[in-house]
Amino acid sequence: MVAALDIGGTKIAGALVDAGGRILARARKPTPAGEDAETVLGAVGEVLDALASSPHRDAVEAVGIGSAGPVDAARGTVSPVNVPGWRDFPLVERVGSAVGGLPVTLVGDGVAMTAAEHWLGAARGHTDALGLVVSTGVGGGLVLGGRLHPGPTGNAGHIGHLSVDLDGDPCACGGRGCVERLAAGPHIARRALDGGWRPGPDGDASAAAVAGAAREGHPAAVAAFDRAARALAAGIAATAHLVEVDIAVIGGGVAGAGEILFGPLRRHLADYATLSFARGLTVVPAATGTDAGLLGAAAAARAAF
Ligand SMILES: [Zn+2]
Repeated sequence: MVAALDIGGTKIAGALVDAGGRILARARKPTPAGEDAETVLGAVGEVLDALASSPHRDAVEAVGIGSAGPVDAARGTVSPVNVPGWRDFPLVERVGSAVGGLPVTLVGDGVAMTAAEHWLGAARGHTDALGLVVSTGVGGGLVLGGRLHPGPTGNAGHIGHLSVDLDGDPCACGGRGCVERLAAGPHIARRALDGGWRPGPDGDASAAAVAGAAREGHPAAVAAFDRAARALAAGIAATAHLVEVDIAVIGGGVAGAGEILFGPLRRHLADYATLSFARGLTVVPAATGTDAGLLGAAAAARAAF
């Protein structure tokens, strides 16, 4: 049994997860994202306290944490973009002392989702896999040789900042033409707006609203998703050529667009994944749903044993 924490900018979720991936207890608190470091940690403590009231608590052998990035697993610190009070915050040490010295494993949220999909989801049974989370940003993770490959700092597989357009728009990371700059939800919405799409009476200008318009055939909405799909295809193909993954699993809110994203993505993939060993590459939606972060944190803790 492991205790899992999924820490994001809006919520802190916790669970006790058994060896079969069953969730036996749950807790959740809003993230006091605008508060100071100790207040945010206090919310983590409340989640851990709630889990400690479970009759299964004595079976817990380790703690896994999946956190919004950047994370530094080598140093045990986190600096989530949306939680400004935590900069190089020593989360592993602080959680470790709160749980009586149990081993604590930290990974980024993209790595956690990949671990969940490999353990229980769409990448199950695959020896080499790429996971992607496409939402307000684009993150990812790798399974290589049958094992999660978090890299020294817990960030390996961060496909969002692979450049697929050398002279493309500047990215928040300092680079240019990154996959994230083309495929993240806010950038899909911006591109659709630039192309002449307008939100409906509810004012919803999200990527989900663009997906709805694309389903109805709005050309600017279709074009925005096509561009995002092409960027993802180029990044996925590059990864397959580099490390021979044979499946890419895509989760996150933007993946909820379904065939509006996956249709053009599969078409573009045929143009980019051209080498013989990459032609069998498949792209599928994630299967672990809203528990991906918790199950992935649990999987990462189990992988670290
Ligand atoms: Zn970037």
